[in-house]
Amino acid sequence: MREIILADHAGFCFGVSRAVAKAFDVSGSEKRVLTFGELIHNRDVVRSLENQNIHAISDEDFGEVTKQDTILIRSHGVSKEKLGELKELSDHVINLTCPYVTNIQKKVHDYHELGYRIIILGDAGHPEVIGINGWCENTAIISKAGIVDFPVPAKICVVSQTTEKQANWERLIARLAASAKEMVAFNTICSATEERQKATKELAARVDAMVVIGGKHSSNTTKLFEICSALCASTYFVENAAELKCFVEELKSFEKIGITAGASTPDWIIKEAMQLL
Ligand code: SF4
Repeated sequence: MREIILADHAGFCFGVSRAVAKAFDVSGSEKRVLTFGELIHNRDVVRSLENQNIHAISDEDFGEVTKQDTILIRSHGVSKEKLGELKELSDHVINLTCPYVTNIQKKVHDYHELGYRIIILGDAGHPEVIGINGWCENTAIISKAGIVDFPVPAKICVVSQTTEKQANWERLIARLAASAKEMVAFNTICSATEERQKATKELAARVDAMVVIGGKHSSNTTKLFEICSALCASTYFVENAAELKCFVEELKSFEKIGITAGASTPDWIIKEAMQLL
């Protein structure tokens, strides 16, 4: 008989769950509710928010924002400068930056003031990294995947994007430690990410096929896909049950199928996928 196994810690993390719950909570109010950027990297959730009249805005839309609008800052956070700009635009800014990300921003700010050069392990184009860099006046060096292709400054403070792989962190720290004169390092990989990756790794190693569910733009879901692909040749990356339908015939040939999902994948999408399988 076919076995469908859901990985531990699959789906919404604390920070995303808090942001989405708050968004739905304020959606009934009289005021227009806007999110600076899409609240989470999941198109299904963004569509349900739009149905509640909650719309994402970008810098180009600032001219249309009024003081009365409610603006939500998503869990990825924003730069110090952007936070100031948004507060100028509206009297109702709700900062839903995940407290773990706020902690990184604070460390980066404080150590920058102390004269340390900030190094961020992460993806330079990711909103969380852009936001963190904005707390040290955009002076950080960004290391992708732990690669050190820059001269290492003498006095450095190292942090990580919350969704990074532990192996990349260890590689980066080893390389920097060999050259830096003074180094302060904060492993800021979120424990939710670590636990999810660990559980996914264990499951991927013992099943015949893995299904990874989440937004294609979601950094942490993409990393889950990479982890699974390295351990399980038959790994499928889908956004929801509708996409999974295309692979159902192929999946029938496997006896043990594992499922995991990124931090921005809601429970209802995971349930639908499990029911389909
Ligand atoms: S992955 Fe961790 S840091 Fe990022 S939003 Fe979720 S709980 Fe917060």
